[in-house]
Amino acid sequence: MADCLFCSIVDHEIPSDVIYEDDMIIAFNDIAPQAPVHFLVVPKKHIASLDEATEEDKELISHIMLKIPELVKEQGVENGYRVVINTGEDGDQTVKHLHFHILGKRKMTWPPG
Ligand code: AMP
Ligand code: ZN
Repeated sequence: MADCLFCSIVDHEIPSDVIYEDDMIIAFNDIAPQAPVHFLVVPKKHIASLDEATEEDKELISHIMLKIPELVKEQGVENGYRVVINTGEDGDQTVKHLHFHILGKRKMTWPPG
């Protein structure tokens, strides 16, 4: 998808601090971390947001969800973490390519801001 930041990262046109990659997904550290560990898991397929995911994306999304605990352990997170999918305007989604935030190594609060 032209003019999509995360598609450019997926294509390695824009450099990122990659921690994991396979044929379906890429994971890289967030450029503006909100916790000592803060990385993003991004499907290689351009899906604008969770709202645009379909039945066709079932395998991809379950792959992401099952990969997250593995990546978290590799990053040395041992005491819990938070997974966030900002979606749409009220969700404060700024990059219109589906991504999962993983935050760890600090105590989170609830409700979120
Ligand atoms: P969201 O607000 O949920 O759409 O999240 C977008 C996230 O992408 C933010 O946490 C940004 O800090 C992060 N981000 C933006 N540009 C980059 C980049 N070039 N490399 C890594 N993370 C980025
Ligand atoms: Zn994209």
